[in-house]
Amino acid sequence: MTAPMQGALRPTLYRFKLGDFEMMTVLDSFAVRDGLGSVHAGGAKPGEVEALARANNIDPNRFEHPFVPVLVNTGKQLVLFDTGNGTLAKDNEALKGRVPDGHLVERMAQAGYRPEDVDVVAFTHCHPDHIGANFTGGKPTFPNARYTLAAAEFDYWKKGEGISEARKPTKFQFDKLMAPLADRCTFLNPGDEVVPGIRAVDCAGHSAGLTGYHVESGGKRVLLWADTCLHYVCGVQRPDWTIGFDDNQQKAVETRKRILKMAAAEKFMVVGFHMPFPSLGWIDTMADGTHRWVAAGYQMNV
Ligand SMILES: [Zn+2]
Repeated sequence: MTAPMQGALRPTLYRFKLGDFEMMTVLDSFAVRDGLGSVHAGGAKPGEVEALARANNIDPNRFEHPFVPVLVNTGKQLVLFDTGNGTLAKDNEALKGRVPDGHLVERMAQAGYRPEDVDVVAFTHCHPDHIGANFTGGKPTFPNARYTLAAAEFDYWKKGEGISEARKPTKFQFDKLMAPLADRCTFLNPGDEVVPGIRAVDCAGHSAGLTGYHVESGGKRVLLWADTCLHYVCGVQRPDWTIGFDDNQQKAVETRKRILKMAAAEKFMVVGFHMPFPSLGWIDTMADGTHRWVAAGYQMNV
């Protein structure tokens, strides 16, 4: 007997306990793209990307770009971090085929959460893949939620001054998907508390007010670093390489180095929006001083 081929099957949800909290990562969507070097390795010398890819057993050209929002239930409040791609591709002719459809809401449902259960949506920044599911059919997708966002991030996109040609569509999406929620937003500065146990961390560089979040309960801590590193090999092992997606490339390099050093020194776990699913790991320091992304094993299950 020959069993039929069933196609790829991959995990899309991972929930674990963090002290008294529950945390869940959700694979909203993913895109497979060409150009590992041209996207993730600005300033690399000829052959360097290929050598790094070989050393890490990944394709030197094609790469996967996952999109991973996070849910935290503190026992008192359900906090969602970013909303993923949502209906961006359906709603925008220009994005068709370039941006995958988001699956956040249906996957949350599989895990037992309704949109009306979300108390807070904490945004890391306003790039489209992080705000794409803010509205469904013209109404807020999470009808009972208030929102948090860095003041610096909101102001930057609201003013819209000095935005590069490549980021004009981001300004358009901001005006459509983020600006209308302003009266339900709490604007954060670094260090501000979102709810007890969750605190904003300055990760600016990739965007003007990129905000990470420390989530801490029962002596356990995870940093949601959002888009501080955009690729688990290039961004972590070669934080000096510049990335076109970073709005302030030099500041993004400085932030990557600072956050990597902190994560390695303080040994907390990290969740990254674009890290390979389930997007949870920690940062090791090698003998030569470079860092490595070490994907979580069973640490959160025992
Ligand atoms: Zn992103």
